[in-house]
Amino acid sequence: MNILEANNLFEDMVTKLLPIITRDLDDTPNVLIELEVVNDSDLDGSSNMEAATLHLGYEELIGLDVFEIECKKSLLQDIESFMTMVAHELVHVMQHLRGDEFDYSLPYDKQLHEIEAYSKEKELVAYYAKNINNEV
Ligand SMILES: [Zn+2]
Repeated sequence: MNILEANNLFEDMVTKLLPIITRDLDDTPNVLIELEVVNDSDLDGSSNMEAATLHLGYEELIGLDVFEIECKKSLLQDIESFMTMVAHELVHVMQHLRGDEFDYSLPYDKQLHEIEAYSKEKELVAYYAKNINNEV
């Protein structure tokens, strides 16, 4: 995929999956979620990280809570990996909206927010893929 195709897929996934991911929250989220494709060497954090969700905060001018999902450019080469990444990061967006405390003191695979994101990502991608097929 090129960046435009990735952005289109990203926007569609956000539109279809975010309402499902956030359905248990009290308030309907008023969010703007932007995809930022970065060079593989430019992603913050550890070098084996594929993506990261940044909560930039409430933007008064537009009245929206703004998030940025950064992902490595190399993820665009594999559509399945890209979709799994988007689903995973959207779970993190929901966790921010839910007001979760993120505890990074534990090892990565023991962090509760990661366990939750990994437990939901595949099901969400499967749901999204099924949803696309229904429209054809
Ligand atoms: Zn994660």
